[in-house]
Amino acid sequence: MPKFKLEYIWLDGYTPVPNLRGKTQIKEFESFPTLEELPMWSFDGSSTQQADGHNSDCLLKPVAVYPDTTRNNGVLVMCEVLLPDGTPHPTNARAEIPDDEGTWFGFEQEYFLVEEGRPLGFPKGGYPNPQGEYYTGVGYKNVGDVARQIVEEHLDLCLDAGINHEGINAEVAKGQWEFQIFGKGSKKAADDVWMARYLLMRLCESYGVDVDWHCKPLKGDWNGSGMHANFSTTFMRESGGKAYFEKLMEAFAKNKEEHIAAYGPDNHMRLTGLHETASIDTFSYGVADRGCSIRIPHSFVNNDYKGYIEDRRPNSQGDPYAIAGRILKTIQEVPTA
Ligand code: ADP
Ligand code: MN
Ligand code: MN
Ligand code: MN
Repeated sequence: MPKFKLEYIWLDGYTPVPNLRGKTQIKEFESFPTLEELPMWSFDGSSTQQADGHNSDCLLKPVAVYPDTTRNNGVLVMCEVLLPDGTPHPTNARAEIPDDEGTWFGFEQEYFLVEEGRPLGFPKGGYPNPQGEYYTGVGYKNVGDVARQIVEEHLDLCLDAGINHEGINAEVAKGQWEFQIFGKGSKKAADDVWMARYLLMRLCESYGVDVDWHCKPLKGDWNGSGMHANFSTTFMRESGGKAYFEKLMEAFAKNKEEHIAAYGPDNHMRLTGLHETASIDTFSYGVADRGCSIRIPHSFVNNDYKGYIEDRRPNSQGDPYAIAGRILKTIQEVPTA
C-alpha cells in the first residue's frame, strides 16, 4: 500500500490573530484518503498557547482534505482543535458556525508580499510612485519581477488542491494582491481561505518573502487590506424581498459592535471612511456604494432584493471562521416568515 504524507494543519491559540501550524504523519492507504478515513491526531498545546504544561494534549479532528501536489502522495488536512474530552477548544471558531448547506460565502482576500520589511517593489529606503496604476496593472514598474510568479504559482497550487478560487488581481497598493474564494455551505469557503493562506505562506518561504496579512501595513495614502465577505442564503437567493432585506440590515446595525469584534484586529486603522471604506463607527448600506459597510449589487435590487450582498468591513487578518459564524448568527436572528 502506498504511504501518504498527511499534513495536519490547525489554528493555534495566539491572539489577536491565530497562526497556522502543521505537522506531518505518514500513513498507508489503498488510494488518496477520504475525510472519513483520516484518524484523529494530537499535539502539544502547551507549545501553541492552547494548554498548560501539565495537561498539554489537544486533539486534531480532520474537517477538510486537499491534495498537495508539491509532495509525493501529499495530503493537506484542515483540522479543528478539540479538548482532550472531545469538545471544541475555546480557540475553535469553526465549531461555532451553524451548519447550513444553503449558505454561500465568497471571500476576497487581500494581502501584501513583503521582503526585508518592505512591500515587494518598494525601493530601499524610499517609496515608489503613489498608488494609481498598480491596481490590475502590468509591467515591471507596476508589479516588479517576482510577485506575479509567486501569485501564479499560488493559484496553481490552490486549483490543484481543489480550492475554489474564482479569481486573482493585483491590488491598489504596490506589492498588494487579492484572491477570491467562493464556497457553497457555511464552512467551505472559510476552510478554503485558511488552506490558501497556508499554501501562500509555505510557497513564499522559498522566495525569502513573507505575507503581511495586517489590514494597514503602510501608513499614509496607501490602501489597507480587507477581506470582503460576500454572502447569501437559500432564502436570500430564492425569496428575498425589500421587507426582509431591511429587517436584515436592522439586525446588522444592531449587532455592529459584535461584527467589528469578529472582523479582524486594528480595523480602526483601515475603516477610516477613506480608500473605499466606511468609518468603523457607523453602519451603512448602499447600492453599488464602496464607501458603505455593506454594498448591495445593482443585480440584487433589480432582482427584487434577491441574491448576495457584500460586507466590506472584515479585514485581511480576520478569521474567516469567526466572520462566517458572526454573519450567520445575525442572519438567524431575522425571521424569514
Ligand atoms: P469586487 O472586488 O467588485 O467586490 P470580486 O469579484 O472581487 O468583486 O468578488 C465578488 C465575490 O462575490 C466573489 O468572491 C464571488 O465568489 C462572490 N459571490 C458571487 N455570487 C455569490 C453568491 N450568490 N453568494 C455569495 N457570494 C457570492
Ligand atoms: Mn475584489
Ligand atoms: Mn479588492
Ligand atoms: Mn469586494
